[in-house]
Amino acid sequence: MDFSHELISWYQWNGRDLPWRQTRDPYAIWVSEIILQQTRVVQGMAYYLRFMERFPDVASLASASEDEVLKMWQGLGYYSRARNMREAARQVVERFGGVFPKEYEEVRSLKGVGDYTAAAICSFAYDLPYPAVDGNAYRLLSRFFRVEEPIDTSQGKRLFTQLSLEVMDKGRPALYNQAVMDIGATICLPASPNCEACPLRKGCALGGMPEAVEYPKKGKKITSRDRYFVYLAVEDGTKTYLRRREGKDIWNGLYEYPMVELPAPLSENVDNDWMKPLEQDFSDLHVIGGPVMKKHVLTHQNIHATFFHAEGRFLRRKDSAYIEVEKNRLGEYAVSRLMEKFLLSE
Ligand code: SF4
Repeated sequence: MDFSHELISWYQWNGRDLPWRQTRDPYAIWVSEIILQQTRVVQGMAYYLRFMERFPDVASLASASEDEVLKMWQGLGYYSRARNMREAARQVVERFGGVFPKEYEEVRSLKGVGDYTAAAICSFAYDLPYPAVDGNAYRLLSRFFRVEEPIDTSQGKRLFTQLSLEVMDKGRPALYNQAVMDIGATICLPASPNCEACPLRKGCALGGMPEAVEYPKKGKKITSRDRYFVYLAVEDGTKTYLRRREGKDIWNGLYEYPMVELPAPLSENVDNDWMKPLEQDFSDLHVIGGPVMKKHVLTHQNIHATFFHAEGRFLRRKDSAYIEVEKNRLGEYAVSRLMEKFLLSE
């Protein structure tokens, strides 16, 4: 059977009708691709429409403030991607006169644009023959051809890119890439491939076999570390206090309540001195409510968070990291999903 031909025939009848497929605008395609790297289509749709309404073109994104872009991104996670998009939009303005580049290498050179995203943009917008090799492609190809090579090595990645180049219909790269994405997202699912409904079943090396779920193969085990955050929602009348996270750690650029990171669970803090680091910015600090426990799982980290309500007086030190915020204006600040979960539970 002809892999590409069967796939594209299926797609032409069964493909999903998505707003970013109605356009050849590379900017819109880029936005949709980055959003879909974070979330599923159903959740991503609202973000995409909102983002495109506020930033309809490269120029509007390039001239936006980082805070505003992060606020639009709130809840999607992986905030460095939003920061990179803004940076890349500025590169398009500075290096390409505001016109989205048309060559693969130029697109690939933009901040935060990797092989997959560059291939998706170039195939969907310009019909250039680059395979977009994402999780769907790894899964589909590894099962169809029963590839034992792990996908998390550079050798494995090269092999799958090579295989994709061999099987893709180079005359119809946009259709091929979209078909791979759709069959991966609707039929060849990670834990429950629907082989009965799959148009590729006849030629598939693992079609209908229980071990299909073990593919693609991975070499390394992902290890996660536990982190313990204690937050204080400090209030003083109508005011509360936030800090913008800086540096290389998670959630760079997002706002949060005063927080202390502990080396072990709060229950093991026998001296009960965990609040001390906050006392240089707040006096008369005392807990008035809580705890509210939240666990938040990231790719390599488990965040165990404990939130307390507290009262205290802000000392307004010159180099304080905190800003004073009216409680009813908290919603204007971009916060992590963890902070958001706490605020919504209040
Ligand atoms: S037959 Fe099953 S395992 Fe093979 S590609 Fe189709 S859904 Fe995936």
